Amino acid sequence: MNSTKNPALPASITTPLQRLEHPLFEQHRVSVWIKRDDLNHPLIQGNKWHKLKYNLTAAVQQGKTGLLTFGGAYSNHIAATACAAQLFGLTSIGLIRGGELANHPEKWSHTLKNAHASGMQLQFLNRTDYRRRQDADFLDALVAQHPHAYLLPEGGSNALALKGVGELMDEIERQLPAWTHLYCAVGTGATLAGLVKHAKPAATGRTINGVAVLTQADALLPQIQNWIDSTDRPPPVKWHLLSFQQAGAYAKLPPALATLKQEWENRWQLPLDPVYTVKMIYGFFEQLQQNRLPPGAQVVLLHTGGLQGNTQT
Ligand SMILES: *Cc1c(COP(=O)(O)O)cnc(C)c1O
Repeated sequence: MNSTKNPALPASITTPLQRLEHPLFEQHRVSVWIKRDDLNHPLIQGNKWHKLKYNLTAAVQQGKTGLLTFGGAYSNHIAATACAAQLFGLTSIGLIRGGELANHPEKWSHTLKNAHASGMQLQFLNRTDYRRRQDADFLDALVAQHPHAYLLPEGGSNALALKGVGELMDEIERQLPAWTHLYCAVGTGATLAGLVKHAKPAATGRTINGVAVLTQADALLPQIQNWIDSTDRPPPVKWHLLSFQQAGAYAKLPPALATLKQEWENRWQLPLDPVYTVKMIYGFFEQLQQNRLPPGAQVVLLHTGGLQGNTQT
């Protein structure tokens, strides 16, 4: 890439921290804000921008001319990577879970169609091959096949992603130094880990709650722990990985959540995505109603974006 061609950097925008009023918040004597990180970019949105940022720089510094990554048919990371590659003048290859989609573009999701339209080359893997996406020999073969491509893991989740998320944490610290509780949605857990790692300790005590969107959430714990521990100090704040069986499996929106999404959007004219942020909000309300939040809590709900998921048919 020509470094004089400087693409728009959405992270230079400080996204708003918006106060939310609700009778329940008053009743429980908590103050609630939403961090509108969905407003940072229409397509490289929310946490995906922060996770990609330093990876894009690294790709360019290493002289790579393309990005290669993994994802499912509805992946926000695939959408974001395709768009970022286009912006940065890089090629992109998406290895997509679902061999059955290979010669059937008519079955492609909105996400895949858009990624393809942005120039991403889509290759489809059957479930067995897709499961090998972290195996060293599988990755070695990919690197050999695509020597000019920069490899991004699924979800873009790696150490450089955590560094980018750290900047988002800094921004929240500046906007609300008195925060006590922070909620975020969890897919791979890299965003949660990045927030925990970069949060500032406070005398009042602080907790970051990740709300898992997958039912097998506990399987993520070793990796999250590992990301957080890759630092020379103990985590500065408490953190938990929450999962709610009632919230349904990945990308399934049970009626209770569909209602919550609708009510929320009506009340605040504030869009949620059906996979991640609606579950984060659900988790927060569950905890509030179970009196898990002390009076005086200053709560930040992190809107991680993902709104391209609303256009799926
Ligand atoms: C990808 C995504 C997440 C999950 O991020 P992880 O770092 O993988 O945990 C959360 N919210 C939205 C909107 C996302 O697109």
